[in-house]
Amino acid sequence: MAKCLRSIKNQTYKNIETIVVDRFSKDKTVEIAKSYGAKVFVTNARERSVQKNFGVKQSIGKYAYIVDSDFIVEPEVIEEAVKKCENENYDAICIHNTSDPTISFWSKVKKLERDCYKDDELNVAARFFRKEVFGAIGGFNESLVAGEDYDLHNRLLEKGFRIGRIKAQEIHIGEPKTIWEIARKHYYYGKTIGEFIKKNPRRGMKQLSPIRPAFIRHWKKFVRHPILSLGFIIYQFVRYFSAGLGFLESVTRGRKEMHTPFYSQGIVTLTFDDCYEETINNVISILSKYKMKATFYFPTSFIGKKFEGRKLVSENGIKKLVKKGHEIASHSHSHIPVSITLLDNIHRFMISFLGSESENKLNFLRRSIKFFFKKNQMKNVEQYINDILKSKTTIEKRYRVNCVSFAFPDGVYNNKVLNILQRLGFTSARTSDIGYNHFKKLKPYALKVQSWDKCTTPEMAEKWVKKAYRKKLWLIEVFHLVGRENNDNYEYFTSIYHFKKHIEFLNKMKTRGLWILPQKEVMEIFSEISGKKEVVVSPASKLVRK
Ligand SMILES: [Zn+2]
Repeated sequence: MAKCLRSIKNQTYKNIETIVVDRFSKDKTVEIAKSYGAKVFVTNARERSVQKNFGVKQSIGKYAYIVDSDFIVEPEVIEEAVKKCENENYDAICIHNTSDPTISFWSKVKKLERDCYKDDELNVAARFFRKEVFGAIGGFNESLVAGEDYDLHNRLLEKGFRIGRIKAQEIHIGEPKTIWEIARKHYYYGKTIGEFIKKNPRRGMKQLSPIRPAFIRHWKKFVRHPILSLGFIIYQFVRYFSAGLGFLESVTRGRKEMHTPFYSQGIVTLTFDDCYEETINNVISILSKYKMKATFYFPTSFIGKKFEGRKLVSENGIKKLVKKGHEIASHSHSHIPVSITLLDNIHRFMISFLGSESENKLNFLRRSIKFFFKKNQMKNVEQYINDILKSKTTIEKRYRVNCVSFAFPDGVYNNKVLNILQRLGFTSARTSDIGYNHFKKLKPYALKVQSWDKCTTPEMAEKWVKKAYRKKLWLIEVFHLVGRENNDNYEYFTSIYHFKKHIEFLNKMKTRGLWILPQKEVMEIFSEISGKKEVVVSPASKLVRK
């Protein structure tokens, strides 16, 4: 680590920012990194592809160069790479990596192999990128634990980006010392080989082949070093055998169970119900300051009007939210909840009673009794659907956004309306059931929440977040009124100071790998990872109703 950072400090090109992404190392990584003037981020993300994407996202420069901590970089690497991109208009640069042969017999073998790839077009991966290009292709594929660099390189080629090469090189000092290390490492890699081949069928197969054109081109090297060549054969055998074992295990046990990058960290979604003007005015700058995007639901018939005694957000307020990149979602048109049976009510109560932290249990009980006696409920399901569709169409036409998330008015639902939302073009729906969402048994149309009311303190909310982080859950927080003072003792009031404090806490957790995303983005990632593509998103106007 220190050697690596020293070699970066000694670059002939000086205008660089160094970012270290650490996963709770027990050694002195953080201190060492700081002593070299690097910015340090600690994350609980296990896979290096996730860590690398995260690191690139934090950087501010025009280019990003990704170095593993067990590499030493020759002094001219960055200078040559920048020149090549600036003068010859390349989008990415390959830097040849060789091995330090003094580490072990196996590192000599690795050097023999790596040096065959020096001019190879196949076994090569760019490490230096124009940042916009890196972003344009979506960075590393986070479902891969190995081959993510080849995969990215292959995608760069596919999209027609220009990849150049430079003379200066990297030296790998972390080569394995024993044959067991090699076996263990490749066994682990083998588990996602299937994923890699699925994504890179042609080029990927060639890149994984044990006999490669590069070796044949360099046959003289092998003849000159018979003992190393023998070592190379053993090395290849161990490598493919253990990767094969890993692959077999992943097939028999099911890849998803084994490798679930999506679950490797908790996710928090910040949501705002009803969207009072006061709330929007108070939260928008705080969210911008910490670059957090949230989901806002409002009943479209009340835009700019009074709703339950308070002024709702105006047209301009909504446009401002759209411009800032927040998600605009449906909360129906009239905000009249669907009527539910006593049984539905009990069911709903049970879920929430089990899901809520002990301090919230009484509160919830009071609220659900209150709801039970609420008069204005929609009995006709057809009418209820029309009401939802009206809001979706309004939002999509007026603000030119896709409206794919929904929040049930008063958070209540029954089975009939649950089943219909997907057909209406929504990817998910939020209830007011209390609890956390588990990705392994996600119910996209009955998402659970933790709701802020006048009794909620930042300390209580921190507990929710910590639980989601620790157990890799999806926490959806619901705010209603965020204001300075609670003059009329409103039930769902959050003080702006508490809100600020909580956002600051979330920001701290963000640097430790917690994701903070709007509802629809979580669903996009979820459907991509779980391979569930049945959710089709289309503008409401084109939908055919039953
Ligand atoms: Zn509401």
